[in-house]
Amino acid sequence: MTTTKKGRSRQEDSQPIGLAILGATGSIGINTLDVVSRYPDKFRVVALTGYSQVERMTQLCKDHRPDYVVMVDEDAAELLSAAVTQMRLKTQMGLQIEILSGVSGLEKVAGLPQVSCVMAAIVGAAGLVPTLAAAKAGKRILLANKEALVMSGSIFMDAVRENNVTLLPIDSEHNAIFQCMLRQVHCNTDNSANDQLATNQTLPHNLAEMGISRILLTASGGPFKDTPLDEINNITPAQACAHPVWSMGKKISVDCATMMNKGLEVIEACWLFNTNAESIQVVIHPQSVIHSMVEYIDGSILAQLGNPDMRTPIAHALAWPERIDSGVQRLDIFDIALLEFEKPDLARFPCLKLAIEVSKTGGTAPAILNAANEVAVDAFLNERLAFVDIASVVERTLENMTYTEVDTLETVLRVDEQARAVTQECIKTMSIRVH
Ligand code: NDP
Ligand code: MG
Repeated sequence: MTTTKKGRSRQEDSQPIGLAILGATGSIGINTLDVVSRYPDKFRVVALTGYSQVERMTQLCKDHRPDYVVMVDEDAAELLSAAVTQMRLKTQMGLQIEILSGVSGLEKVAGLPQVSCVMAAIVGAAGLVPTLAAAKAGKRILLANKEALVMSGSIFMDAVRENNVTLLPIDSEHNAIFQCMLRQVHCNTDNSANDQLATNQTLPHNLAEMGISRILLTASGGPFKDTPLDEINNITPAQACAHPVWSMGKKISVDCATMMNKGLEVIEACWLFNTNAESIQVVIHPQSVIHSMVEYIDGSILAQLGNPDMRTPIAHALAWPERIDSGVQRLDIFDIALLEFEKPDLARFPCLKLAIEVSKTGGTAPAILNAANEVAVDAFLNERLAFVDIASVVERTLENMTYTEVDTLETVLRVDEQARAVTQECIKTMSIRVH
């Protein structure tokens, strides 16, 4: 039996890859399961997690038969237990599922020995602790949960380096940038280089060494790119969640409408690609066919194109360094009549401006921005805050807090908690301008 450098036998390599999908009931989770279910010989669903959507998780248990399920909410875990027992009796299915709850359940499944790959797709700050647990356990991480990097980039990337984690970006732009970084593509023709690449391959020592001068991070501009400014006051949650191109969870949909999402993505790109905001140009590209670009010092610009469907970056990361069919409809380039590019208007999108400033400030400032934004978006979705006030609330929270270095996870979690309390106070004292 031959053994590869990383100690796995070729026979073991042909075993299906054990997957834990954190945030399985969400938009990215469901898209991941769609891709995975096309390849039962390649992937085995070991663990699924959700927060409280019991009905959806019951269906996922039936369809994917995981060994473990975590419902973070305890009541939901009990309800799921009862639903799975019912299903076992009714269908005579030999379902054997261990059902866990709480954050400890998430940490446990992220580190299971039979799991080699973790899809980190919990929304918001709640994804940080389990994603970090996956990094500490040395799992391959497919990272959708950008908030983990925004809050604690230095801690997370240290854990990635120390544990030789293969970190693959799922965010479509970052996945596109990764695909446009030529060194990886070339090295993939060589097996020994593959083994080397399989560690820290998303961490170029510095972009200049790779001949890269700039990253062009594309954005659709969201649903309000051209809405007259005086109409933005009256935007409802339903309008904000109706993204013109992508179908996503509510929180990220609102973030796209304010362009906070692009700001979080600038911070995410800084950590993933070891660079700074000065080397990243945000480009509004309403057709969302180009998912981002990399500019080289010789004047070449490489772009990754495709239909806007998250199954492409998910399939890319699941199979990396190989390629698998994602089920995504091919892009018909003859159908693209026009590719447009604009500079973002920072006066129209103050959240983007704030996030870029915060990425330059560093320390705990990004964690404060992230927490304030989560609270403000939640208040907007629950009609306690007007759309235009999301940016004001985030700005006031940033002004009302002092920044420190990010030294430990405890510091980040404490700052996150404090920022949430400060934001709630800001919201209470604001004149309510809800439509
Ligand atoms: P969704 O809102 O659709 O799903 C979120 C998932 O997280 C659900 O499984 C939800 O469980 C779970 N969850 C919510 N709160 C908690 C909590 N406190 N603890 C544990 N689990 C929780 O989000 P998306 O799939 O849209 O986004 C997931 C992540 O991926 C985000 O970080 C987002 O920024 C990123 N991303 C998403 C893209 C997209 O196209 N959707 C594109 C690029 C990045 P339940 O369903 O039970 O509530
Ligand atoms: Mg994105």
